Amino acid sequence: MSEEAADVTLGLEAVKDVPWKTRLDFLACVECRRCTDACPAHVAGNVLDPRGFILAGRRALAAGKPDDVVIGPMAEAAPPVLTEEALGVCVTCGACEYGCPVGVEHLQLLIGSKRAQTLASGRGVVAADFFHAIESTGNALARPKADRAKLLKELELPRFTGADGEWLLWLGCIWGFNRDQRPAVAAFKQLLDAAQVPYGVLDEEVCCGHHSRRQGEEVQFQDLARRTIELLHEKKARKIVTACPHCLHTMRREYPQLDGGAAALEIVHHAQLLERLATDRRLPLRPADGAWETVAFHDPCYLARYEGETAAPRAVLAAAGVSLANLPNQGARTLCCGGGAAGFVREIRHGKRVDPPRRDEIVASGAKRLVTACPECRMMLDAAVEQTQDIAELLAASLVRVEPVSTAPAGGHGVGEGETMYKPVQDDPELEAKILQMFEHHPQEEMQLLDIAGKAHVSCKLCDLRHAADHLVEEGQLCLCRHGGGRYYKLDEDGASQDNRI
Ligand code: SF4
Ligand code: SF4
Repeated sequence: MSEEAADVTLGLEAVKDVPWKTRLDFLACVECRRCTDACPAHVAGNVLDPRGFILAGRRALAAGKPDDVVIGPMAEAAPPVLTEEALGVCVTCGACEYGCPVGVEHLQLLIGSKRAQTLASGRGVVAADFFHAIESTGNALARPKADRAKLLKELELPRFTGADGEWLLWLGCIWGFNRDQRPAVAAFKQLLDAAQVPYGVLDEEVCCGHHSRRQGEEVQFQDLARRTIELLHEKKARKIVTACPHCLHTMRREYPQLDGGAAALEIVHHAQLLERLATDRRLPLRPADGAWETVAFHDPCYLARYEGETAAPRAVLAAAGVSLANLPNQGARTLCCGGGAAGFVREIRHGKRVDPPRRDEIVASGAKRLVTACPECRMMLDAAVEQTQDIAELLAASLVRVEPVSTAPAGGHGVGEGETMYKPVQDDPELEAKILQMFEHHPQEEMQLLDIAGKAHVSCKLCDLRHAADHLVEEGQLCLCRHGGGRYYKLDEDGASQDNRI
């Protein structure tokens, strides 16, 4: 080996490779054990012990032997900081870091060690089959491209054109290749169509690289990431929606580190887009049969903990009349389903499965239906209770079927292009009378909904107010004007003008 090659380190191979922040973490730990108690792999009965490996790091520093290994087999005479057996069951869920009162970053050590294991030593639990699957097929499920093409055809998913305002629907490996999740994709399509959202999918999509990075294959991650970034630029994607929190996190937080242009992309989770559409009253939802029975909602780690999003799925489920069961670990304290770090496709050869404790919690909640917001969670927790669904499936079943009233060209009076006016589900004559009365006092003014609420002294939900105002537009008493993307209402003084009608 040349002198240059010998200098190259591929992750945390030896104690001397440990960066200063991780060294500081070793010393800062107050030994409270919160990280270990929150670790789903530990709770499931595995040897992984976050406090244990942080304290092992402290002992390694004190020993003053910079060439001692960080990662190694359990049986070795000088115990490593992290054992291969322990590292093999980590799902990178982040629960250890989230609960730490002194800000210890366990993931730096875990991912750095995984990189050393995968790229340098090649020993221990290395996800070789997973890497090979990605290398040969471009997707985590090792399915031929024809499977995806067939699914796109069967579901009649439109192709992305790069037009202004169009969303790129990023399917990810599971929605793209797992036929069991076809109802979820179909449901999301139904919701986008109902809200008249312009969207399309790409034929060329490959794995975003998330799990390759978590399994230490940084080279494969960077290759996949660069290919995807180039594809997004080439197709002129500006807005991306995906059901996969792993794709979301990687594209939103990690791609900009490789390419500054990726920072300009707007990337949202499908639950966030659905919540926006429901708030804007473009997605009319109501309980299908009066009310849903109690539902358990499982927060995905990469949505709730890494992306901090726990409100949007709950808000849109509430809009559909769903009441949620309480789980002992929910929101940002969610317990991992076991799918992280490619756990959804890796065969568990060492240690115990990570999903049983979460399944037990869901069963104990008494819920008959489980709703997830991640294709991996849906795979891992399938059949935990009578029915497991993606959030889009439940919402599609709650969709009020209404006919669009009409559409008109954007920019002038009337409904903007691609925007739907729904017939009101329930008119509110009293509210409409107050709005009209207020406009009679301000005959020349154009107002947005919040101005109307303030001047008419009404307190009601914004969606009900919009409902009432839109109905008045439909009746020809108000007209709708659009400026800079905003919706303004004003008195339709020229009541006979058909141009101003919807
Ligand atoms: S990331 Fe999750 S599985 Fe890994 S050590 Fe931390 S809590 Fe345990
Ligand atoms: S939670 Fe933080 S301080 Fe507590 S034992 Fe774990 S690493 Fe140490």
